[in-house]
Amino acid sequence: MKIGLFGGTFNPIHRCHLAIAVQTRDRLSLDRVVFIPSGDPPHKPSESLAPATHRFEMVRRAIEADPSFAISDVEVRQATKSYSIDTVYTLQEEYGAATELFFIIGLDAFLELPSWRQAPDLLRSCHFVVVSRPGVEFLSLCHMPLLPAIERASLAALDARMQDRLDIPIPNGIGLTLLRLPPCDVSASEIRRRLKNRLSLSDLLPAPVESYIIRFGLY
Ligand code: ATP
Repeated sequence: MKIGLFGGTFNPIHRCHLAIAVQTRDRLSLDRVVFIPSGDPPHKPSESLAPATHRFEMVRRAIEADPSFAISDVEVRQATKSYSIDTVYTLQEEYGAATELFFIIGLDAFLELPSWRQAPDLLRSCHFVVVSRPGVEFLSLCHMPLLPAIERASLAALDARMQDRLDIPIPNGIGLTLLRLPPCDVSASEIRRRLKNRLSLSDLLPAPVESYIIRFGLY
């Protein structure tokens, strides 16, 4: 089994999250993509972050029609802050050694990886899949600590859309795949801003998510 792990705050889940999951699944022949909504940060109530129960429920509704998608409550059920390294170790144990795990992450978030807990262990723990995000260049990875040297020309070719995939070996790890996806320019923060200002959402959200937000008056 090849399983993609796709973590996020999903505050709320939007059209581009689903597009990333579909395209990564198809391009890497994954059997399943598991969405992992983050839990509530302890002692940090935030006006803009909907409670984990709502974010979890929105993801559940957004993916329920697709049998190759699943949701995990591994982070939501934790009372303390979850670290990705613990999530990966927990799921490795749950799925067993015959399952290959692929950690799916947007380029913007991947650039923050060096500040994450046990980042070098995390990078080696499973196959990393970094997907393009409008406004962020793969070339920025040139200077990223933790990574082996990557040829600038290959990164530039991804940015220029002359190439749509680059596989990079990770010493003592499994591997890193950079995937250029068709640009999808939606962010959850833009959706929250639109909701707050009562602007149209056009088709930024899956329909069941939009009706859930309206029903519970979120954001
Ligand atoms: P926010 O605007 O609140 O920061 P977000 O839209 O970035 O939210 P998250 O739940 O934080 O959504 O993202 C989960 C993962 O999906 C991250 O790895 C992020 O990089 C990636 N991601 C989200 N939106 C896009 C997008 N439009 N293109 C590529 N990657 C994306």
